[in-house]
Amino acid sequence: MVEKIDKPAPVVKRAGARAPARKPNGRTARRRPKIPYSATEIAEIFRRFAVQRPEPESELEHTNPFTLLVAVVLSAQATDAGVNKATRGLFAAADTPQAMAALGEEAIREHIKMIGLFRNKAKNVAALSEALIARHGGEVPGDRAALEALPGVGRKTANVVLNVAFGEETLAVDTHIFRLGNRLHLAPGKTPDEVEENLLRIIPQPYRRHAHHWLILHGRYVCKARKPECEACVIADLCRAEVKTTDIPAELRALPPGPPPAAMTA
Ligand code: SF4
Repeated sequence: MVEKIDKPAPVVKRAGARAPARKPNGRTARRRPKIPYSATEIAEIFRRFAVQRPEPESELEHTNPFTLLVAVVLSAQATDAGVNKATRGLFAAADTPQAMAALGEEAIREHIKMIGLFRNKAKNVAALSEALIARHGGEVPGDRAALEALPGVGRKTANVVLNVAFGEETLAVDTHIFRLGNRLHLAPGKTPDEVEENLLRIIPQPYRRHAHHWLILHGRYVCKARKPECEACVIADLCRAEVKTTDIPAELRALPPGPPPAAMTA
């Protein structure tokens, strides 16, 4: 006789049942994922990154908050190296919102036509320059809501600008950080927002300001997408990624600024 499985009864909300907590930023609080690291191990991972790169810098060339903002807007689906090639000429022609607005969409398009999505990006750069003049007196605002209201600026771009130009402890989850958060099981998440939230929960305070760059550079030059270079990795003994190929950490020493000599740029 086949055992009958009753359909589950519909869930009836009890009067007064609590809705999921909302955080001040409007997101719903999520349950913390279990991760295979102790707080001491996480602190050690970031301590080693800090020894390697005490003052990490963005590899996007910029001279002021405005050129940083434009470079980050241009970097969507493009490499930093490709963006730098395009912005050298663009920023020589215009490095302020006023000059960029005067340059105009067509000339901006000519300067950046070697990078992906250049038509749309040129439109956004012209429009955000106009918006900065109209709304912020030609200054880049140090405020998330104001930044995200600019054309072509989303959460990731705002996070980079707040971190690099304004020294805030924000973390912009790009393709490298998303991969690391999941591959290492440090901050598992299905979306960049989830990985961001989970990383910010676990990174000890002294390391939050630079965590963004340490993780990007580690993902770009060592824990690469196709083939991680575990023998060059200073956290190989701590890492819990299934793909790792050694438990022996690389020598821990301060690296010169910029990409490693033979590194591929991603
Ligand atoms: S040990 Fe390998 S997989 Fe783990 S973080 Fe280092 S490079 Fe990535």
